[in-house]
Amino acid sequence: MPWYRKLHWQIIAGLILGVLYGVFAALMGLGEITQDWITPFGTIFINLLKLIAVPLVLTSLVCGVASLSDIRKLSRIGGKTIVIYLATTTISVTIGLVIVNLLQPGHQIPSELRDSLQATYQADADLQTDKAQDTRDRGPLQPLLDMVPENFFGAASDNRNMLQMVFVAILIGIGIIQVSKQKVNVLLEFFSGLNEVIIRLVDIIMLMAPLGVFALISGTITSIAADDLSQVLELLSALGFYCLAVVTGLIIQTLLTYPTLLKLGSPMPIVTFFKGIAPAQLVGFSTSSSGATLPVTMERCKEKLGVSEEVTSFVLPLGATINMDGTALYQAVAAVFIAQSLGMELGLAAQLTIVLTAVLASIGTAAVPSAGIIMLVIILEAIGVPSAGIALILGVDRILDMLRTVTNITGDAAVSVVVASTENQLHDPDLSDEHDRVRLSSQNNNG
Ligand code: ASP
Repeated sequence: MPWYRKLHWQIIAGLILGVLYGVFAALMGLGEITQDWITPFGTIFINLLKLIAVPLVLTSLVCGVASLSDIRKLSRIGGKTIVIYLATTTISVTIGLVIVNLLQPGHQIPSELRDSLQATYQADADLQTDKAQDTRDRGPLQPLLDMVPENFFGAASDNRNMLQMVFVAILIGIGIIQVSKQKVNVLLEFFSGLNEVIIRLVDIIMLMAPLGVFALISGTITSIAADDLSQVLELLSALGFYCLAVVTGLIIQTLLTYPTLLKLGSPMPIVTFFKGIAPAQLVGFSTSSSGATLPVTMERCKEKLGVSEEVTSFVLPLGATINMDGTALYQAVAAVFIAQSLGMELGLAAQLTIVLTAVLASIGTAAVPSAGIIMLVIILEAIGVPSAGIALILGVDRILDMLRTVTNITGDAAVSVVVASTENQLHDPDLSDEHDRVRLSSQNNNG
């Protein structure tokens, strides 16, 4: 197959054209037309992915747990997954802290710029602080409480409740293991049939990915530029050191920590991993949501990286909701940056508090755009830095959100490969795009 027909090249083309068109539209004052006529295609693409996320998690997790056939195996895989997730997040926060302490980006901010940023983004900062109020008022066991829904449809009706769905699906799976095979056969067939259908739907939706990505990127550029690109460039250069600290950290985590983890814990060549996961990274970059990207991440890990159904369906939905290495790194850098620019020095105790709260906050961060900034408020309060300081970084948050989401997704995928490998559930990866098309066309022919 010629290279230009490969999905990831098509998505990259959509991305580049989206950036070019977005800049052009912002320069020519075409922001409104773009928002009216192009952005909706991006929204349709995200909606399609979100539409299948809950049923995909439910069906694949039920099948996955039911096929584990004993609870001990489930708790072993579960325990291993959570320990690796916590370890990678802690490493990520530590990388962020080392970089921000070395680069000291907060000390580069002139006081006039700090005052003007604070004045411009004050209203937005107040809004985010208000949103954090709910989280702040919660008791210590609230995250545990949040996992257990009181109503199945309530949990299934909101994509933010993914962790509740994970819980319900595991519960149903455990129930199925306890009942004799004969009695639950029909039920299992139903879940696995539905699961197959949804996986086919991911293939079909991904045909729209190049267009969806084009629309999302050009929409994002015109909305942050609001017809005035020079303002964005000014902001980027003013906060350049801060952005550099976050981006350097994300690059180290993505290109050093995960490859090392893969080397230590699996036989998978690094290039194979990145080739396989690239389309999910690109969708994560354009949607800024690991929740919306979950169906693509699951499909890529299973079909292209050879991770078993069992591991994919358990490790990835859990990871999309609780494992956010990019977000935790960004929260640590941002917290120290804000403290530095407000002239506050953070000692060792405060930095250790950041490690702990950033790991916990990233677990509690919803897998949706800009969720990381709400939890940042909690971290700032934990270390005694005024939360209004987030006004300093709001202007560049969207761009950093796109990048940290890529790291979040890559981390989930890397851990799924390692867990699968240690469980002897890593099959030969199939990196050709051929079989997708064959599958889709044979599907059409059958129809
Ligand atoms: N957008 C991120 C995600 O969905 C969360 C965040 O850091 O805001 O992975």
